[in-house]
Order: sequence, then structure tokens, then C-alpha cells
Amino acid sequence: MLAEIKGLNEECGVFAVWGHKDAAQITYYGLHSLQHRGQEGAGIIVTDGEKLTAHKGLGLVNEVFASKDFETLYGKAAIGHVRYATAGGGGLANVQPLLFRSQTSSLAIAHNGNLVNANQLKHQLESMGSIFQSTSDTEVLAHLIKRSTYPRLEDKMMNSLTMIKGAYAFVVLTEDKLMVALDPNGLRPLSLGKLGDAYVVASETCAFDVVGAKFEREVKPGELIVIDDEGIRSEVFAQSSGRAICSMEYIYFARPDSNVDEINVHKARKNLGKQLALQAPIEADVVTGVPDSSISAAIGYAEQTGIPYELGLIKNRYVGRTFIQPSQELREQGVKMKLSAVRGVVEGKRVVMIDDSIVRGTTSRRIVRMLREAGATEVHVRISSPPITNPCFYGIDTSTKEELIASSHSIEEMREMMGADSLEFLSVEGMLEGIGRSNEDTNCGQCVACFTGSYPTEIYPHTMHPHDKC
Ligand code: SF4
Repeated sequence: MLAEIKGLNEECGVFAVWGHKDAAQITYYGLHSLQHRGQEGAGIIVTDGEKLTAHKGLGLVNEVFASKDFETLYGKAAIGHVRYATAGGGGLANVQPLLFRSQTSSLAIAHNGNLVNANQLKHQLESMGSIFQSTSDTEVLAHLIKRSTYPRLEDKMMNSLTMIKGAYAFVVLTEDKLMVALDPNGLRPLSLGKLGDAYVVASETCAFDVVGAKFEREVKPGELIVIDDEGIRSEVFAQSSGRAICSMEYIYFARPDSNVDEINVHKARKNLGKQLALQAPIEADVVTGVPDSSISAAIGYAEQTGIPYELGLIKNRYVGRTFIQPSQELREQGVKMKLSAVRGVVEGKRVVMIDDSIVRGTTSRRIVRMLREAGATEVHVRISSPPITNPCFYGIDTSTKEELIASSHSIEEMREMMGADSLEFLSVEGMLEGIGRSNEDTNCGQCVACFTGSYPTEIYPHTMHPHDKC
């Protein structure tokens, strides 16, 4: 599904390199391949061993960086970030990596995720005299490190990490050190790779392929990796209570060519489609998927049922971000600019339309209508994930509970609202089975909170509103 019309957005991607003479350029290519994780801002900070140099801006990676920018971004290590932001969380001050300079040393931080106790920690820190330069929850880590009384930077970092709760994949750069940390639940993806003798770290493994790096391993939940001229070291800052990687990475966010927690995303989506076919079969003539993220699941559904898969919906790839947003009345037209039904495929046919998830439901209604206008005689909607009934506090903008249609409507009510002939969702068990997790184990390895309301971490009373994060 198209993020910009769906109301479901990833919150960031991080990338880091240590030990390569072209660190900034490699980070640029890495960020480019993580562009789907955030399109509002991008930045790179590089170290030459003595000082940190930053370049960041609002926009897509190729809009923020020009060739001449790399003349000043020289050094052997770099971190980078792509960012998505909604109203209230935007602006250049929040574009990462954030840079904190002091007389003795500097610190650059990039973060994917959301800290659930950021507000509490901010209040505490402000009452002790800290002054925040952004509204980003990421800045909390810098202040905690700064205040820590441990002599070694690694210990300051570990001590600070034990105070923050929620979802985080951090890459932190100083003049002479790269530190990488993943939260104790491993909610967000983070992998370590090698590029010759250099180390690379990325939110998704597709970034390794682009820069020619080799996947080494996943960063472990509760692990701090420190890389400097002495080599690479791994420390445990918190005992992991078990992995709870975000289910939506497999369902919707990650690129199909990425492996998340060593499971290929395309294969997982295809298996979700197969599970859906087993749980919710229907007699039909063609199966189609809402591009791009639902296509793998549609192929799986078609394979399992034997109903042919066809390209019944086409995405217009040339609708840029600057496309004039339609007024409320013309929203219908807006969707048509982004998506078209292929009359030659669906006319006179009973169509199974596979979508990966439903957030507000409005887009699904428009797509169903589009298929009918193109001549489909029946439209059966199949969703390759369970109904989203709860908000995410871990870095995914799934809207508030009130905006989530499945939180207040039955499946039959949703079917009627979208004008479909039938509507079915995949069960939580089917989802775990499709992705390849054993749900007999109570710790299934995945976060399923937006489907079940059972959050893997404590949720604080003033957990930052999902729109204000990262
Ligand atoms: S609540 Fe949902 S979107 Fe958020 S981390 Fe968990 S599975 Fe992912």
C-alpha cells in the first residue's frame, strides 16, 4: 500500500560505517536504500578522527546531498539517518543525526524507534538544568550520557541505556568511536555487516547489498557494540527478555529484499498470503495486490488457491512529494493519481484484492470503488495481517486508537463501509505461522501489540504521542 495515502508510516532508518576512507559516500548510498523508511529529512555526520562534520536537511536523500557536499564530509567513519515526521515533529532541528558539541568531545546520535519514557526523563533532566535543542526524544540519550559520572564513554552509554525504555536502534559517533545499541526487546531491526575491513550497520540488510557489504549478524537485543581503532567489542547492557521485533516490518515496512531477524521479507509476505488463502479462501477469477507492499502476499494467495495472479492495480511512480495535495472533495482524484485499476484485467471478473493492512479504511473503500468502476463484478478484500486495533508507541505512526477503524468497527461493518463483497483478515496465529515463528512458544519473537494490545514494554502514562517521535 502507498504510505502517503494510507496513514501508516515508518519513523526512520539508520546507517553507520567505521573504517572506510569513503565513509560519507557509503553512508549516502546506504541511506538511499533506506529511503522508504523516511522521506522528510536526511543527514550524515562524519569523523576524521579529530572533529565531527555534519550535513543534513529536509527532503529526500538526493535532494539533501549534492556532490560538492562530500568535499567537506571526509573521514573514516560516519553515521546517517533518514527521517519521517508528522505535524509537530518536523523542522530542521529534529533532522538527525543530532550533534552535541562540548569543549572536550562531541557526540552525534541517530535513532530509529521511540522512547516510551522520554517525557518523564525530559522533565527530570530539565529540572536538573538540561536545555533541549529539539523536540525529538532522541536528545534524551545525549543528556543522560553528558550527566553520567562514569569515566569511560562506553560505561556512560550503558548506564544511560538502562534508564530509557521503549524501542531504539541507536548509532552514536564521537571523534574516535562508533557505538551501536539495540533495545532489550529488539523491537526495531538492526544488522551488522562487513565491507572489506570496514564495519557497516544498517536498519535493513538491503543497504548492505547496495554498498557491497556482507551481512555478519543481527545486533542482539540489549547489546552495545563499540567499534574504534582497537577493534570491535560487544557488551550486554540489559538482559533481553526475548526478541519482540515489530511485525509490521514484515507485513509492510521493510523492503522485500531485506532480511529482518534473518527472515526474508518477500518470502514472509508470500507466506502471509498463503496463510490467508488457507484461512479465507473464496471463489474468484483473479487475485491482485495493492502495490507495492501487498504484491508478495497476493502472489502467495494466488499460488495457494490456484487463482491466477494479475496486475489489476498499477501504481503511478511519478507522483512526487511535491504533487499538489487535493482538497478534501478531490481526495478521490488524489488516489486515482497514485493508483489505477487495469480495466483489461478486472473487467467482468471476480477479483480478490489483497492488501497488507487497514488503518483508517478510507483508502480501501476508494480502491474497491476503483475496481468496480473498471468493471470488476465482485471485489473480495483479503488483508494479510490481523486488524490493527491499538496504537504503536515504538516508532510506527499507526494513528491514534480513535482513527483505527478496526478498533471500533466489526469486520462486517468495515466490509459494508468499503463496499466489498467480502472482507477477511489474517489471524495473529496465521501471521506468526506465515512469518515463520512458533507461536507455541509464549515468546513468539515478535511484537504483536497493535493487533492484541499486549505491549512488550511498560507503557508510561505520558508516553509521547506517536506523532511526536523520532
Ligand atoms: S505495536 Fe505494532 S507497529 Fe508497533 S512495534 Fe509492535 S508490531 Fe510494530
